[in-house]
Amino acid sequence: MQITNIPFLSFDSQNQLIENEIRTAFERVFQNKWYILGNELTAFEKSYAAFNQVNHCIGVANGLDALHIALRALDITAGDEVIVPSNTYIATWLAVSHTGAAIVPVEPSAATYNLDPQKIEAAITSKTKAIMPVHLYGQACEMDAIMHIAQKHNLYVVEDNAQAQAASYNGQLTGSFGHINATSFYPTKNLGAFGDAGALTTNNPALAAKASVLRNYGSETKYYNEVIGFNSRLDELQAAFLSVKLKYLETWTNERKAIAAIYNQGLAGIAGLHLPATALNAGHVYHLYVIRTPQRDELQQHLNKNGIGTAIHYPIPPHLQKAYRQLGFKKGDFPIAEDLAATSLSIPLNPGMTEEETSYIVKQVRAFYA
Ligand SMILES: *Cc1c(COP(=O)(O)O)cnc(C)c1O
Repeated sequence: MQITNIPFLSFDSQNQLIENEIRTAFERVFQNKWYILGNELTAFEKSYAAFNQVNHCIGVANGLDALHIALRALDITAGDEVIVPSNTYIATWLAVSHTGAAIVPVEPSAATYNLDPQKIEAAITSKTKAIMPVHLYGQACEMDAIMHIAQKHNLYVVEDNAQAQAASYNGQLTGSFGHINATSFYPTKNLGAFGDAGALTTNNPALAAKASVLRNYGSETKYYNEVIGFNSRLDELQAAFLSVKLKYLETWTNERKAIAAIYNQGLAGIAGLHLPATALNAGHVYHLYVIRTPQRDELQQHLNKNGIGTAIHYPIPPHLQKAYRQLGFKKGDFPIAEDLAATSLSIPLNPGMTEEETSYIVKQVRAFYA
């Protein structure tokens, strides 16, 4: 059979596997008639904390809110500085902006695309309060080095674990290193809801309590408001769905790794094509499989013509976005981030992909270079 259409993203295989359990979960919430801050959320928070090997998980409405509330729980505010990667999804930057603190971008390693620990110390000033490592595309940052720098300079660490659920560094799961960390259950993430959802993870009970009050109008007891909080809660329906999907995360992660291994092997040795590299001790759960080439647009067209969907993560780095023009950054300020934006291409990587599909993709990439 000739394959003519491989979408960049597909939920088909995962949804088919869990369909009955998702319908049961819906039925349970429907019958219970309790929609916000109930047993489903408590149960999911408990199992996600156990999965992530942390003491506390606090469910919130989405990943951006999780990042923002993490920074608020640490009392980060105007006058403070926060170190973020120059190449990340814009949410990491937005979370800092919403606190009023200043964004201090640091370039990634050109090999792993993750925050380069060797470049962090030069960006630290007397105003620096926190470092936000992003485990981009599913690869764990070099957390030993980052935690060491943070400790030395008395800084907080807030991990952006939106793309890396189940990844680990030196055997320890991402989302469990920082003082308080954020993740997203946006549908396309490795653990995705059927809508928006996110969570904070921490081992610190005081920070957990603060985050939990912040997500619910700054209130611990109904109609008593201690602080100026937000309405950012993970609803019962999404919590019930996530509890089902969490049970499959390990299986799906292994599938992602197996597909990546096929790509790593099949695409090796092509001159001018960079494959994802992993740092020593850094686990990779392949939220995305990102290849790099100066001929990115031509390769994308070639794959598209041959029925293969692709995507670009991300075409414009945050410092060149209109939203950040008031910061005064210009082209050339963060050359590695800019080069990544100009050369990166994500090829399909979905649990349930067949060998026929992955070998067709390998064949078509090779055909472009032949
Ligand atoms: C998806 C994502 C977010 C934001 O998550 P939402 O749930 O969409 O708000 C934050 N950071 C990174 C790195 C992401 O990929």
